[in-house]
Amino acid sequence: MTQNIVSLIDSDQPKKWQEILSDLITDPKELVQLLQLDPSNQPPSLAAIDQFPLKVTRSFVAAMELGNWQDPLLRQVWPSKLEEAEISGFVSDPLMEAEANPVPGLLHKYHGRVLLTTVPHCAIHCRYCFRRHFNYGGNTPSRLQWNQALDYIRSDQSIEEVILSGGDPLAASDRQLARLIGQLDEIPHLTTLRIHSRMPIVLPERLTVELIYLLEKSRLKPILVLHCNHAQEISPSVAHYLHKIDANRVKMLNQSVLLAEVNDNSTILSKLSRALFALNVLPYYLHLPDRVAGTAHFAVTPIKGREIIQEMENQLPGYLVPQLVQEEPGKPAKSRMR
Ligand code: SF4
Repeated sequence: MTQNIVSLIDSDQPKKWQEILSDLITDPKELVQLLQLDPSNQPPSLAAIDQFPLKVTRSFVAAMELGNWQDPLLRQVWPSKLEEAEISGFVSDPLMEAEANPVPGLLHKYHGRVLLTTVPHCAIHCRYCFRRHFNYGGNTPSRLQWNQALDYIRSDQSIEEVILSGGDPLAASDRQLARLIGQLDEIPHLTTLRIHSRMPIVLPERLTVELIYLLEKSRLKPILVLHCNHAQEISPSVAHYLHKIDANRVKMLNQSVLLAEVNDNSTILSKLSRALFALNVLPYYLHLPDRVAGTAHFAVTPIKGREIIQEMENQLPGYLVPQLVQEEPGKPAKSRMR
């Protein structure tokens, strides 16, 4: 299958999504101009930009409300001075991922599953990102190290599922993904391929015909886990491209992060669940934000998270209520908050 799919994909021609990816907004001045904002109201933090640069797609910005500093999409990408606050308990590696990193590019945190940090970059920098301090430099494997990661998977028969993560794994080209998925296809004890990506939301043109073909034709059961936090992120273009995926062949789930003053309200999250379901995407996890240095202003307490879920249960059928979860270092699975 590797050869067939790789040969079907013409890598040399830049795709529309790659052109979009090379034209991101990275200058806060441009962003405030586009949104008709007064920069003196919320000057950006240069220290925050230095640690984790501003990066956002033009289509994500187009979904923001003009002149509104409180816009929930803007709040997710604006490098705020609040990021400079040093708050006890907020650290650079809250999940202690460095301890679950046996081979460069591979994290083995949970039984039966491994995560490959496929590509070290994203189309957007979400300010609350739990990997904003991650050592991508030491986890961008060479070809030799990729082979070591694949050997690690081959040698452990308890591994059934491979999760492509990042960065954003869909920042890899179709040809790179075809090669990797082809190699994974050939490992007999693997059954499932999961891809965690924010690209279908922030750069929907990434859902190319070739990529969808790759997923639908893989021997492995494909699961595409989106990351969408607010219904305002689902533009007509996002809906158009998600409709191209055959939900009978590719299971689509969504995970959101519960973020203060972005989506910490049951009405907003219920609207999101309904909008996702209309696109054949099931709400899956609602994560309490990880306690990452520079992100304390996004924190929501577990008590408030539980209240929001209870309210959602009163508004929605059970299949539209995501599970409230929290990741804790060293635990064999995510902790479900009841
Ligand atoms: S797309 Fe995902 S990995 Fe990339 S910055 Fe956002 S949350 Fe982090």
